[in-house]
Amino acid sequence: MYVLVGVTRSSALIVVDVQKDFCCEGGALRVPGCEGIVPRINEYLRMFVDAGLLVIASRDWHPPNHISFKPYGGPWPPHCIQGSWGAEFHPGLELPSDVYVVSKAYLRDKEAYSAFDGTELHYVLSTRGVRRLFVTGVATDYCVKATVLDGLRLGYEVVVLTDAVAAVSEEGGVRALEEMLKAGAILADLSSVKLVT
Ligand SMILES: [Zn+2]
Repeated sequence: MYVLVGVTRSSALIVVDVQKDFCCEGGALRVPGCEGIVPRINEYLRMFVDAGLLVIASRDWHPPNHISFKPYGGPWPPHCIQGSWGAEFHPGLELPSDVYVVSKAYLRDKEAYSAFDGTELHYVLSTRGVRRLFVTGVATDYCVKATVLDGLRLGYEVVVLTDAVAAVSEEGGVRALEEMLKAGAILADLSSVKLVT
């Protein structure tokens, strides 16, 4: 069987949280496989940028005393603190100069895994007529999943680019992909995505 997903005029690419703390040597909360997907994300970036399509990059953007941090009762080591080295995007990520950056979980007492949660993302996408989202980044089992499920709930067609996401745990990543599929997401890779603008 041969299935293709079209990258249409109403498509946008979302790169979820490809930040140094998650993806680089010395990062506070490294996601295995994150560095490995950067070249593939760049291939998708070129496809979308060359077609003049919207590119969104989300980032964790925590205050130093964020509730998701262990010293403040949360599950994670401190990471992606506003303005810090770890919060910067991976240096190998070829984001276009007009990338739209969405910052999330920027209030001390509010955690947000989804790039839609507490952000302007839905507004930005809907005002630009975007209907189909292509999602890459980390982590499959946390912020990618939450972003995909929110996108589906908001009525977008959502394509998870499985060769450009990485999970905290392998098993969690598999479960997360199943959950996204059940919720209506399309799973695709570079060989099954075709520019049709
Ligand atoms: Zn975080």
